[in-house]
Amino acid sequence: MKRTDFNGNLRAEDAGREVTLVGWVARRRNLGSLVFMDLRDRSGLVQVVFDETMAARVKDVRSEYILQVTGLVQMRKDANPKMATGEIEVLAKDVRIVNTAETSPITIADDSDTSEDVRLKYRYLDLRRKPLQDNLILRHKICMITRRVLDEKGFVEVETPILARSTPEGARDYLVPSRIYNGRFWALPQSPQIYKQLLMIAGMERYFQIARCFRDEDLRADRQPEFTQIDIEMSFVEEDDVFAVVEDLMKAIFRETIHAELDEHFVRIPWIDCMKKYGSDKPDLRFGNEIHDLSPIFADTGFQVFRSVLDQGGEVDAVCFEGLADQYSRKTIDRLQEFLKAGFKAKALAWLKMENGVLSGSVAKPLSEEEKAAIVKELDMHDNAIAFLIADQPNIARSALGALRVKVAHEHDLIDHSQYKFLWVTDFPMFEYSEEEQRWVAAHHPFTAPKEEDVDKLFTDQEHCSSRAYDLVLNGYELLSGSIRIHDQDLQEKVFEAIGLTMEQAREKFGFFLEAFRYGTPPHGGVGIGLERLTMVLAGTENIRDVVAFPTTNSSLDLMSEAPNTVDDSQLKVLGIKTDIKTPESE
Ligand code: ASP
Repeated sequence: MKRTDFNGNLRAEDAGREVTLVGWVARRRNLGSLVFMDLRDRSGLVQVVFDETMAARVKDVRSEYILQVTGLVQMRKDANPKMATGEIEVLAKDVRIVNTAETSPITIADDSDTSEDVRLKYRYLDLRRKPLQDNLILRHKICMITRRVLDEKGFVEVETPILARSTPEGARDYLVPSRIYNGRFWALPQSPQIYKQLLMIAGMERYFQIARCFRDEDLRADRQPEFTQIDIEMSFVEEDDVFAVVEDLMKAIFRETIHAELDEHFVRIPWIDCMKKYGSDKPDLRFGNEIHDLSPIFADTGFQVFRSVLDQGGEVDAVCFEGLADQYSRKTIDRLQEFLKAGFKAKALAWLKMENGVLSGSVAKPLSEEEKAAIVKELDMHDNAIAFLIADQPNIARSALGALRVKVAHEHDLIDHSQYKFLWVTDFPMFEYSEEEQRWVAAHHPFTAPKEEDVDKLFTDQEHCSSRAYDLVLNGYELLSGSIRIHDQDLQEKVFEAIGLTMEQAREKFGFFLEAFRYGTPPHGGVGIGLERLTMVLAGTENIRDVVAFPTTNSSLDLMSEAPNTVDDSQLKVLGIKTDIKTPESE
């Protein structure tokens, strides 16, 4: 089909040229005997003018019709500075109506006012909007840069099965029934974890894959049942080697997509210190306001409330904000307290304000002058500073103050949105206690190596056993997880045992994997980078559906194709599946 130019690329230099363009009609205006249309293709919009003689040929043309127009580029009398092509227009000499279109059920504009559900039903029309097209192009660029950078570093892209055996990553599997072996099931991979480790045993040394992962998790606003990971695994490495590859990759991606230069080395902090300082394992470092443990100040306190918390193994933590004391009335503080009580189990929120060199606030009276002076010093409080204090068990006090830190920073605009603050959180706990299962489970996945010095804690002190798992955090989001893996069969068996799997159960689940370990497994480690999360940060959106071409809703439905759907009984029969569930069709 003849097409000489892309619409959005035409500029003043093109004036005088004859061009042939194609595209969708974005907007039509009649002005006396003239007709103006904005013609849209993927590159953008250009204004086309139909004069009296041509106007008759487009009298029936409406929005979203497809035209092929040949015409002359000319300077506009009144330039439109809002359009990239706003200095010129195309005077039509010939036009062909390539296709007609029904009236669009959604507004196709950068800022569509149509509800998200309707836009999801007509996703192919929503995707005509520039911001969504830009996001898909950005995602494509990230993948292209990843492939180039990793190829240059000697990584090989390998595809692993989608119909697979289940890999435990802590979520539920999506199962696919086997027709040939009725009663048996494939699982869609939660990640290619076992396969990539097998590739290391196979001697591939450096593997990557832009891998689709499937997790049947409870509904959450920022989750999709399927998502993509930039999955990486390397042999003969330690943490430093993995971090260096990821840092180089991130630098290239940020430089080449949004022209941001990242710090030479990313900050690292062990998990335990991170929790103490920020009350979160994914802190936003674009602002300070760290948590301070004030407990030593109250070692001999006469204030009964603090005394009894400290006696029960708790601590008194505080976060301080300069310049905000006058913004907090009792009412606003009460609201903050309700928020922390409801979501973070913190029993009480105390506060102190510094005004004209004097501390006032909910605990100003019961504390001694020495204690108050020590607080001012520790928190470096100046006039108009406000400190929030929580006395509770350490994990409650820290996570509540961590949440308060983020909430106040957002509400008072303390965040510099032009910054990209990366942070490696290292030495995650090896285990976490599952209240549901009443046992210790692997905090990352059971192939993660324990810290060498903590191997003897595997059975005796699971709570304090650290692992070689790490996360990369960016601006408060977890961008990736990974770990140095176990490569020793005895240690792998011990870890299974420590999470309550008998050797029989472990063999039943991953016998093939344990067997592979016996044939010379190199030390190895890697990461899985959340591609959607990374794209969201770079696109500046908080809605995961903005960076996925065909997403599901928050309640895991595809409104466009109406999936999941029921299937014919005959389809179920060959799979050997009977269901008691009544569907509208079967009634
Ligand atoms: N498979 C892990 C995950 O999905 C990533 C990794 O450990 O490489 O989180």
